[in-house]
Amino acid sequence: MITDKIEQYLVKENNSKPLVANKVFTTMFTKKCTRQSAYRYWAYKPEEKQARTLINFELGYLVEKMVLDKAKLSGVPIELNNIWLTVKRGLIHVTCKPDGLYTNKKDLYNVEIKKMSEYGFKDFKKNNLDDSWGYISQANMECEAFKQSGKDVKGTIFIVVNSNTGHIAEEFIPYDKKSVDETFKRIRIVLESTKNTLPERAFEPEVRGNKEYLGTQCSYCDFHKLCYPKFKLQISKGGYPLWVN
Ligand code: SF4
Repeated sequence: MITDKIEQYLVKENNSKPLVANKVFTTMFTKKCTRQSAYRYWAYKPEEKQARTLINFELGYLVEKMVLDKAKLSGVPIELNNIWLTVKRGLIHVTCKPDGLYTNKKDLYNVEIKKMSEYGFKDFKKNNLDDSWGYISQANMECEAFKQSGKDVKGTIFIVVNSNTGHIAEEFIPYDKKSVDETFKRIRIVLESTKNTLPERAFEPEVRGNKEYLGTQCSYCDFHKLCYPKFKLQISKGGYPLWVN
């Protein structure tokens, strides 16, 4: 009665957004697959997102707002939230929107707030922030943007909330110029591609027995049906999507 209307609204609203080519947001280039970035850059139509995915995005924004609000109330305000910054290198200008800037009165830090599942959170606590989702590349581009705007940040404080249990943790990741260089290398590859000559795929299906399976990156990629149209969805015992051919 209510939830189906909410779901329909979310899906409709998401699908009504126009696809625009030639945009360059940092987060388009922070994952490893330049084919994926190029699909987005050239405005290929992504797979329609399910309502549950869109609700998860909304929950991510709420977690970010909650952390910013509570930080302020606890006396450690995180400033400059969600302002647009630009990272420039030569003729390439890329935009990004850091979650905020924190100072302990001595040094400046970029702040990145994430909601993670129990699984991701456990890895994070083990000091094993997996960059397959591009979080570290994104954080380093934001640091670079702050530096270019005159704020010499030392690196990024990741604040992570476990969406299963409500636990919260933080980790400092120092600024890494090499990561910024790698992101610009990927951006150049995408800008030099054309709509019909896309970059190589970063991932291939894994062969197990007489079947092929898409890895995690491809399974969660909005364009996997363009890359691997024959693969069919199965749900694993743990409830995760498995694309099998
Ligand atoms: S499906 Fe895999 S290989 Fe194809 S664009 Fe997405 S991540 Fe890259």
